Amino acid sequence: MKHSKLVTLAIAFLLVLSLVPNPATGAPAKPKISKEKQAVLDWLARPEAVEKFGQISDKIWEYAELGLQEFNSSKLLADTLEAAGFKVERGLAGMPTCFVATYGSGKPVIGLLGEFDALPMLSQKARVPKKDPVVEGAPGHGCGHNTMCTAAAAAAIALKDAMDAHGIKGTIKVFGSPAEEIVASRPYMIRAGLFEGVDAVIDNHSSSGFSTEYGVGGNALFSTIFTFKGKTAHAAGAPWVGRSALDAVEIMDVSTNFLREHLPLSHRIHYVILEGGEAPNVVPDKASVWYYVRNTDEQLEDMYQRVINCAKAGALAAGVELSSMQVVSAIHQRHANKAAAELFQKNIELVGMPAWSDDEQAFAKALQKELVVEEKGMPSKVDSLAAPRGGQFTGGGSSDVGDVTLITPTATIDFPGSVPGAISHHWSNVACFYGSTAWKGLNAGAKAIAASVIDLLTKPEELAKLRKEFDEYSKTRPYKPFLPADATPPNALNKELMDKYRGLLEQASKIK
Ligand SMILES: [Zn+2]
Repeated sequence: MKHSKLVTLAIAFLLVLSLVPNPATGAPAKPKISKEKQAVLDWLARPEAVEKFGQISDKIWEYAELGLQEFNSSKLLADTLEAAGFKVERGLAGMPTCFVATYGSGKPVIGLLGEFDALPMLSQKARVPKKDPVVEGAPGHGCGHNTMCTAAAAAAIALKDAMDAHGIKGTIKVFGSPAEEIVASRPYMIRAGLFEGVDAVIDNHSSSGFSTEYGVGGNALFSTIFTFKGKTAHAAGAPWVGRSALDAVEIMDVSTNFLREHLPLSHRIHYVILEGGEAPNVVPDKASVWYYVRNTDEQLEDMYQRVINCAKAGALAAGVELSSMQVVSAIHQRHANKAAAELFQKNIELVGMPAWSDDEQAFAKALQKELVVEEKGMPSKVDSLAAPRGGQFTGGGSSDVGDVTLITPTATIDFPGSVPGAISHHWSNVACFYGSTAWKGLNAGAKAIAASVIDLLTKPEELAKLRKEFDEYSKTRPYKPFLPADATPPNALNKELMDKYRGLLEQASKIK
């Protein structure tokens, strides 16, 4: 063998070695990280940053404010962004708790979504692995929204620092989005033009895993309050004089329950009775029922008309008037951008799953034991990017992020913090989203968000991939809101409940 051939072989061998996993750690060779990306990762990795945004998240967990009553949560987040140098506009799109925080100028414009509302009836003590409310019946953060706009704010402030230090061009916008739990802000924010000129959006959600996804997901939804008006009467003395509005609600509910048999598998219908009279001996002259009517984008409107027919049938049978149908919100399914998800996945893998302490593992296992699920503790690895599930779509939850996905390329980064097996919209999830695991999870989420924004700001070819896919997709699915043009944000919907519990929750957080 000639000497030159030996050199070539040696070089080839070294090249192969550099591509195979490191035999000492088993980890694949790390991708090269740009100085701009390293800057945001380093900024967020500082213990002060973990603690600062962890404290904000815990504070919002304690406020536990319901949709459109998130005055303290929204203010804390908006003030934090303003103090960091963002221009903050508040009270947007007709919602007092909606804000947009902007930094930078010119193109590209990258939007970060951030939610912060709680759920009714879920109050639960933090890190206690059995049902034990802070205030019986009060709201609680059963979907981790306390960590979410907080993660977006942390990412945005890290990005501002890197933009200043490295002269990165473009604009960052944090969309402080109230009332996701009643899916009520994004269609109104879009209608108000807040997303105009935004080139791509990164949504985020709390989870037990660290993942992203693409394709069509969740259900579209009409959220509507049906109100009936009848006539009062003594319910025993002269019931024939009265016309019961509650009868209309009950007949409507019976009708929709019969309707289920004749709906496609992708549907969901559920309701709560908001008003049904105040005493059995007075025929109720007013009653109302709040419906969530869910299906695919294609089937929603037809199904909604059939539910309206059930309401009319109730009114006719009870001899009362269907006096109003208030559309609280109406939203599309999610159409997540594949190119965005592929980009986010790379950054999720770069950031990796946080390391959990013995205490965090012990809490996770205690909670899993209580919930009678596998006691496997916290996860050690991020998820891989899965293709959308094929086969029959059998429906599911909804998010008003759906409408955003139809106006600009959007995908969601789900970040850890909850315990695998904890149940969404349940006390067990509320118990998870406070303290060190939530802090670490939201910090990891912020890193993946910020790293993805760096890619979108500094690599025009990456943003171009998202835009190209979106432009082609939107030709077949142009955005047409389900939200009726005359609908107004339901600002007072949760007022009474929140007024009842706000003081009690404040008191409890002081005693703690
Ligand atoms: Zn949620």
